[in-house]
Amino acid sequence: MTYDASPAFAAAQDAADPLATFRQEFHIPPGPDGQPTAYFCGNSLGLLPRAARAAVEAEFKSWETQAVEGHFHGESPWMFYQDALAESAARVVGALPLEVVIMNTLTVNLHLLLVSFYQPTATRYKVLMEGGAFPSDQYALESQARLHGLDPTDAIVELTPRPGEHTLRTEDIEAKIAELGDSLATVIFGGINYYTGQVFDMAAITRAGHAVGAKVGFDLAHAAGNVVLSLHDWDVDFACWCTYKYLNSGPGGTSGVFIHERFAHQPDLLRLAGWWGHDPQERFQMKPGFRPSPGASGWQLSCGQVLPMAVHRANLELFDQAGGVATLRIKSEKLTGYLEYLINQLQLPKTKLEIITPTDPAQRGGQLSLLVHERGRELFDYLAARGIIADWREPNVIRLAPVPLYNSFEDVHRVGAALLQFYGEQ
Ligand SMILES: *Cc1c(COP(=O)(O)O)cnc(C)c1O
Repeated sequence: MTYDASPAFAAAQDAADPLATFRQEFHIPPGPDGQPTAYFCGNSLGLLPRAARAAVEAEFKSWETQAVEGHFHGESPWMFYQDALAESAARVVGALPLEVVIMNTLTVNLHLLLVSFYQPTATRYKVLMEGGAFPSDQYALESQARLHGLDPTDAIVELTPRPGEHTLRTEDIEAKIAELGDSLATVIFGGINYYTGQVFDMAAITRAGHAVGAKVGFDLAHAAGNVVLSLHDWDVDFACWCTYKYLNSGPGGTSGVFIHERFAHQPDLLRLAGWWGHDPQERFQMKPGFRPSPGASGWQLSCGQVLPMAVHRANLELFDQAGGVATLRIKSEKLTGYLEYLINQLQLPKTKLEIITPTDPAQRGGQLSLLVHERGRELFDYLAARGIIADWREPNVIRLAPVPLYNSFEDVHRVGAALLQFYGEQ
């Protein structure tokens, strides 16, 4: 696609955008001047869709009028509420409904999955992670290693980019996996690194991990709802994601879990159990002896969190209405490409500002990370004062996430114009 820096270009793109009407489905927070912000923080907390309030209100109504009977009656009985989300959640990550369950929160689910998919032995006990993974994932893995009586500094191998590079090369990941060989128990990577915005080649990493007999899983916090995923076909063993970033399902929102079909009928696979994971036919018989429900739902512990799930359900419906992630991705690539174009137009020396997110659209989602070597915080505040909401990561990274459901080309143009002004004023 050819871009140009004029405001007319942005207006024409918005006028021709088949997804433009979805912006009206969201509440865009006002900026300092009372006008809608240009919100580029959807990779941290997605905006509130208008439909979410009604979805929660419907469950309040059930609670108000039916109380305990809401578990079995009403439009969507709470007892089966999570099952009603599985199909569209599975579409988001490229899975079978049997392979997906919505429950808990992300780090909790990561731990539950590691119980099943990180079972170190005396010789096969290493975990491979991307260096600089999201802190919660680092802490989770450290504590899992300790849980098994291992020294985290020995058990956990972190792979970092080559000197002078910001992102990992797939061939280096594959080589590291081969090198660890029989000592490697589990590979756990982000689908997208939160800091650089790099999309990892999940199919290649899974292949390489399986070739040495390791389990392979992904934290899809920044990938779910952002890029096209095919977890089933890629043969990924397990994955989890939060729903409050690109999936717009609210602060502390619920989380999703993927467990490949090949584990669906393995009741003996080690796991932590609770009554909601029990065979639903017998769940209310209150009998001793855990018999897991087939598939990912056999990892549930507690009765479903209906209110956060109601918010998520409204969002999944929006994703379906928009034509799914593949359709959103077409606009996402254009928005991110346009943002990159406008930044490159400034022709700033790398000593001032560089984009550390890969330039290849296949290796990034809806995010650019700017490493701002000089006056980074000042630039961030300058943008905020002009109603441009970005994300600041210490010590000097500004992340901007154009989201196809609610960001416009005009939003991106606002960023370009503000940057031009900031650097023009120097
Ligand atoms: C956002 C994010 C988390 C947050 O986990 P919560 O348990 O939802 O607080 C964890 N890991 C990654 C990679 C993230 O991007």
